[in-house]
Amino acid sequence: MLELKDIKKYYRVGETVTKALDGVSVAFRKQEFVAILGPSGSGKTTLLNMIGGLDQYDSGDMVINGKSTKSFKPTDWDAYRNNSIGFVFQSYNLIGHLGILENVELGMTLSGVSGAEKRHRAEDALIRVGLKDHLHKKPNQLSGGQMQRVAIARALANDPDILLCDEPTGALDTETSVQIMELIRELSGEKLVIMVTHNPELAKQYADRIIEFSDGKIRHDSNPHQERPKPDQFQLKRTKMSFWTALNLSFNNIRTKKGRTFLTAFASSIGIISIGVVLALSGGFQKQIDQTQTKTLAKYPITISQQATDLQAASAEQQKETKQLSGKGTAVTAKISMQQKAMKTNKITTKYLNYVKDIDPALSNNIGYTRLVGMNLLRKVDGKVETVTFSSASSSNSGAAAMSASTGLGSSSFPEQLDQTKENFLKKNYRLLSGSYPTAATDLVLVVNSDNTININALKNLGFDINDGEKIDFDQLVGTEIQLVGNDDYYTALPTGNYIPNTDVSSLYDKSGNLKLKIAGVIRARSNSNMDLLSTGVAYSDKLARQIIDLNQDSAIVKAQKATDVNVMTNQKMDATTKQTFLATLGGSSMPYSLMIYPNNFKDKDAVLKYLDKWNKGKSKTNKITYLDLAGTVTNLTGGLMDAITYVLVAFAAISLITSMIMIGILTYTSVLERTKEIGVLRALGARSKDVTRVFDAETFILGVSSGLLGILIAELLTFPINSLLYNLTDLKNVAILDPVQALILVVVSTILTMLGGHIPARMAAKKDAAIALRAE
Ligand code: ADP
Ligand code: MG
Repeated sequence: MLELKDIKKYYRVGETVTKALDGVSVAFRKQEFVAILGPSGSGKTTLLNMIGGLDQYDSGDMVINGKSTKSFKPTDWDAYRNNSIGFVFQSYNLIGHLGILENVELGMTLSGVSGAEKRHRAEDALIRVGLKDHLHKKPNQLSGGQMQRVAIARALANDPDILLCDEPTGALDTETSVQIMELIRELSGEKLVIMVTHNPELAKQYADRIIEFSDGKIRHDSNPHQERPKPDQFQLKRTKMSFWTALNLSFNNIRTKKGRTFLTAFASSIGIISIGVVLALSGGFQKQIDQTQTKTLAKYPITISQQATDLQAASAEQQKETKQLSGKGTAVTAKISMQQKAMKTNKITTKYLNYVKDIDPALSNNIGYTRLVGMNLLRKVDGKVETVTFSSASSSNSGAAAMSASTGLGSSSFPEQLDQTKENFLKKNYRLLSGSYPTAATDLVLVVNSDNTININALKNLGFDINDGEKIDFDQLVGTEIQLVGNDDYYTALPTGNYIPNTDVSSLYDKSGNLKLKIAGVIRARSNSNMDLLSTGVAYSDKLARQIIDLNQDSAIVKAQKATDVNVMTNQKMDATTKQTFLATLGGSSMPYSLMIYPNNFKDKDAVLKYLDKWNKGKSKTNKITYLDLAGTVTNLTGGLMDAITYVLVAFAAISLITSMIMIGILTYTSVLERTKEIGVLRALGARSKDVTRVFDAETFILGVSSGLLGILIAELLTFPINSLLYNLTDLKNVAILDPVQALILVVVSTILTMLGGHIPARMAAKKDAAIALRAE
């Protein structure tokens, strides 16, 4: 069934050539017990390895069941070893970290036998070699003879056609040797057994045929066989190790070296720990910075006003001023002040408003408007109608209130949201103390301070009779109704063409054209809010302001005022700006006096500014819109600095990550060296070189995952002392928070890096010559 034709195998080491096999031609029967005798170094092991496909011949041919192996590929050899060959070695070559059952199962695992079947066959094989009572032991709990029995059981488990035994009794005492020989003899009844021995007595006693071997040549054959030409009857089933098997194998191996594995995982987790802590800290600080920036921007939003100061022009003017020489001559020169020269009118148009509304809501979701529109407000107090205002000023002057809002320091109209799907501005930043959040445009809210106080004038101007320190129930405030009277009802034209407010307020209160306003709720800024924009007192939506403008835009007083430069109420002469402002307070201007844009942080602010600059591109000087970015003059450093620090720290931490990667590489390398025997055994059992790589990849995988997880765990634990330290130092709470997504990414990165580090030695392991691996001690 097996024929060697003039097989030659020479080993070259430097100048010397060893002819391990020097033209061996021999044929074997399907069942016989062949003993190969010969002195040490005569090439017996080489011959067995050749027959077993562990080593390849230089020339000649080996024919198995009528098939030439000349064109065999490495995987064919792997499959051949797994299917047809059982190896038994002098030194047993059991895998120490596996139980004896697992040792016997290994070859079947490679050929894909299912779990239960594998266990069953392994038990059968072990019972057959007489180890019924030792099934659950480890190799190091057995005697030499018992270990050799396990090795025989392992060789038998896959039911091979050929059993190759390399000095199987070489390490055993005489009595045990006899037992093992009996066992092998019994097996030769059903298989071809080729046994190498240097014990002629044993050979003569048990073998059917003795081949004497020396210097790589057959010297004598006691029972030669002539192989008849046969058709190709050769069949192979490919072997394959699943990653799961590899993982299992490596896990078992790692388990036997718990201490070392833990130390390595810990050492290589230091990189992960440092990156984790750096990220947690920088994330936390970034959050704090973002919060401060949001707060700053809430105070100093990007403001676009109809009356703006062109700071650039102003500073250019100032430069010129300083260069001037001392005065000469006898005349005085009239001069417009620098500030006045820098004054600029922004032409805010509907198109521009829409342009601003198109700002990416991710950058700034809130836009506030200041309108100068005055409100003609009436309220019934104890049955008597009174004029009231929404101002907190001590004298009732709604225009002044609107102007104070335009400075940006607190506003009475809450901003408009660009993205309606996002959480409502009021709900997000203000807590409802009583009533409800506004729903209609005519719903007002009363904003109070964090200690529930409110400027007394805000209440007095609403018609409440109250003294300093006096309390007033929420219930009394919520539901308060106020009538807003349109200009045409509110102002009466005199025959002179002048307009005066109608004094018959009780008749005005019931006019059908009035807007009915109502205080819907009392609210207070949330303690964690970064955008508490509203000043205390009455606040309303911009929608209400627009409704009032709609109501009054075409009123008689507005039309009359538009036609003349003289104030229609006081007859005072007005310049263009004053007239514009006055018209606006009458509701005659549909454009807001100013807009406030509230970006989330400085970075977003820069993006918004860029967007605003885009509008000005290619426009004439008068059509350009100048914005005011007060926050930009405050500070611009923090964000970028934090990024830079983070990069540097992460770079340092990454170095330690690389170090751990190299460490894992070294560890895998030592593991490869340690497990050389195991590699040889795996290969003898039919593992492909790919499978060997897989075993070591699996080992680094386990190390990578565990060092990643360990690193994350330690980093997470470290955030507690770090946070308490930071709290003591800076009063900042919970700065370091490890982001779970970042943690997961770190574990993945650690795993990939360690696998990369371990893959090179793993590939080295795979490249190891199986025959050499088995010769290793
Ligand atoms: P035996 O098993 O009969 O003692 P071997 O088959 O192990 O002999 O070795 C035959 C010869 O081949 C020896 O001289 C040995 O030194 C040489 N040899 C075996 N393997 C190698 C190798 N990988 N490189 C160089 N020489 C080798
Ligand atoms: Mg040998």
